[in-house]
Amino acid sequence: MSILDKFEQLRHTFERVGSGGHNPFSVAFDRIDSATEGVVDGRRVILLGTNNYLGLTFDAHGIEESVRAVQTQGTGTTGSRVANGSYAGHRQLEHDLAAFFGRRHGMVFSTGYQANLGMLSTVVGRGDHLILDSDSHASIYDGARLGHAEVIRFRHSDPEDLYKRLRRLQGTPGSKLVVVEGIYSMLGDVAPLREIAAVKREMGAYLMVDEAHSMGVLGEHGRGLAEAAGVEADVDFIVGTFSKSLGSVGGFCVSDIEGFDILRVASRPYMFTASLPPAVIASTRSALQRLAEDKALRTRLNDNAHRLHGGLQRLGLHVGPHVSPVVSVELEDVEVAVRCWNALLDGGIYLNLALPPATPTSRPLLRASVSAAHSPQQIDAAIEQFARVTRELGALPAEAPQIDF
Ligand code: PMP
Repeated sequence: MSILDKFEQLRHTFERVGSGGHNPFSVAFDRIDSATEGVVDGRRVILLGTNNYLGLTFDAHGIEESVRAVQTQGTGTTGSRVANGSYAGHRQLEHDLAAFFGRRHGMVFSTGYQANLGMLSTVVGRGDHLILDSDSHASIYDGARLGHAEVIRFRHSDPEDLYKRLRRLQGTPGSKLVVVEGIYSMLGDVAPLREIAAVKREMGAYLMVDEAHSMGVLGEHGRGLAEAAGVEADVDFIVGTFSKSLGSVGGFCVSDIEGFDILRVASRPYMFTASLPPAVIASTRSALQRLAEDKALRTRLNDNAHRLHGGLQRLGLHVGPHVSPVVSVELEDVEVAVRCWNALLDGGIYLNLALPPATPTSRPLLRASVSAAHSPQQIDAAIEQFARVTRELGALPAEAPQIDF
């Protein structure tokens, strides 16, 4: 009898998934050589599952700024900003983020996960309602669990269902906060934000959008889905992460709401953890500037997304109707999906495997994320490997056309 016996079923599943080769949930890189290349078990692989949308992890200016910061300010802050104080860079980055999004206030957290935890557990409390899209990221659900608001879910990306749920709450006291994501991370689909914003307006609710996967990807200036949908004025809180298009680690919230700064002494995931180290702040500021100034990155990202999505669709694979940097291939069978994932890795393509129940459609997904840093040749190599592997393992749908490479 062990205290960990309760994980026997999980251990069994985990070990079974890894029994046919590599374990997709514990990949160890020997080396990362660039934003798009690495080595796993001595094999060179194209990185096609890293959320490194703009490819800025190796940006020369970001690295220079980061090195300068570590040399002049040290390796870490060794405490929380509330207890140990903020460094100049924390405040500057908050100022940069607020300016980028055209908001009055910005607050930086140590991860995007903590940004959701910190906001959702604090801005709504006892007597308030939190209305979540049913496909919300774990950090949104966990933020809800950490707080005391009543949690209601509405059907994924369904503004009518949201309307119904809010109408039932009419007349109840307390604030209502609706939470959606810009691009959903599993299937790459985009929230119907214009319709959701109209519902929010009519029902007098607040709206928070998690732009983790859409910042730097959508919108004329890269501000995300709210910008692309033309509804920024309806979005009360934007949360996001530095760990995707900004190529570092950390999270944030920006808002125009009056009195925002009180959250700094109310939000436990902000208060009771160490603040981001100077090197991270420095590369994030540099990446944000590049994101804002270099529109060509977004164009390349978009071209690559279309190239991969179109290529996989032509093979007859189920990639879904949305074209975004997240391109997921839905397969029927978990065993086949695990074998495909392994064969792709052996063929030099690293991407993510997502298994039910953690997938929105209860089917396994081979999840790719493209980067502005991928060359067209790398995308084509990935498509070619997909063609070979899915044909060899019988994973192509029956109606798929025969394409020879
Ligand atoms: N929100 C969403 C929608 C995400 O997909 C993620 C990370 N996958 C996060 C928040 C958390 O971000 P971080 O990696 O910075 O903790």
